[in-house]
Amino acid sequence: MRASTYPLVDAAEAAEIVLTRTPVLPVEEVHLAGCLGRVLAEDLVAPVQLPGFPASAVDGYAIRSQDGGGRLRVVGESAAGRPFAGELPRGAAARILTGGVLPAGADTVVMVEDVEQGSDWVVVPSRYPAGRNFHRPGDDLRLGEVVVRRGQPLGAAELGLAAAVGLPRLRVHRRPLVALMSTGDELVEVGQRPGPGQITDSNRWALLAALREAGADVTLLGLAPDRPEPLRALVTEALEGHEVLVTSGGVSVGTHDLVKPLLESLGEVHLGRVRLRPGKPFTFATLPQGRLAFGLPGFPVSSLVTFEVFVRPALRRMQGFAAVHRPTLRVRLGYEARSSADRTEYQRVTLVREAGELVARTTGSQSSSRLMSLAGAHALVRVPPGDGGLAAGAVVDAIVLALPD
Ligand code: AMP
Ligand code: MG
Repeated sequence: MRASTYPLVDAAEAAEIVLTRTPVLPVEEVHLAGCLGRVLAEDLVAPVQLPGFPASAVDGYAIRSQDGGGRLRVVGESAAGRPFAGELPRGAAARILTGGVLPAGADTVVMVEDVEQGSDWVVVPSRYPAGRNFHRPGDDLRLGEVVVRRGQPLGAAELGLAAAVGLPRLRVHRRPLVALMSTGDELVEVGQRPGPGQITDSNRWALLAALREAGADVTLLGLAPDRPEPLRALVTEALEGHEVLVTSGGVSVGTHDLVKPLLESLGEVHLGRVRLRPGKPFTFATLPQGRLAFGLPGFPVSSLVTFEVFVRPALRRMQGFAAVHRPTLRVRLGYEARSSADRTEYQRVTLVREAGELVARTTGSQSSSRLMSLAGAHALVRVPPGDGGLAAGAVVDAIVLALPD
């Protein structure tokens, strides 16, 4: 064992160090079918108005309101996609169906429920007002209106709008290509029976899910042993086709912890110790060609919490998200929280609604090996460093992972 030479960096400052060194990825044009969750690289401005023509909102009869209603001749039909040809004569009506174009000369649509119909005539209420039951051009979307702002992710409604205004391909930021690797001689593949002293590699699957949820395109590198040469070989090969390297394990100060020296030799290590609990040995390096490396601690909770605090915001920055952080809510602490003397602590909690406010309940032992503290958690409560801790009933910041049902 040797003492770490890395300075202990404040958690918030460390998060800033990561973000300021994180590049935004280039832009590509992607078809709508592949755009879900992607982030627009420029404002999407409506090149047309919607609707593009006066469109009936109901089934009924298009008339001229000045005709005064009563019995009118039915001279034709305007169905969706099959407009009435020409101008509606005075004293006449055209049958119109939902989505049909309001014929030229007509200024209102009488709902079918309000008329009496014959074979080629219709009786409409007298003095029926103009402007009823149809959408005017531009009512739904004006020409030149911003449909989606740059930095905003594309969801179902946004993609529907892009299609509606006739844009099959959108300019979005690339997704980061991430190589994921677990390090540790004690690890075996899931499904294999662990031998004496061995454990199953669970971080790979937890982090794969977390990476994908954050929008990354992930390559699994598998297991690396605690030996410098094979580790170096795996990492250098993986860096070829990837922008981000994420490792778990091998970042604390024991003799088998090889990730920091490896990253030192490949690039520049900016963080090697953080005033964070769990996650003190979190390591961050920049590598040639704008690549990033995140050395996450091996303990399952530490790896996921440092992922939340450092990696997820960075991946979102790369994809151009305007909002890189999860929402933070002020919640009432439903338990007494002990604090760490010199580290910001993220305690895992469930949230319950009580008397109109959200109350945080601890998920039990906060040991960094106990993944059950994170399973089903709704939030990470931020407990500032200090001797005092926080009394039950205090109001605290919580990073929201999921809202309670
Ligand atoms: P390390 O950061 O390598 O010192 O590992 C700290 C602890 O996390 C040790 O108890 C490891 O066995 C455990 N650990 C490391 N990697 C993994 C992994 N991929 N899955 C589950 N546990 C791990
Ligand atoms: Mg290890």
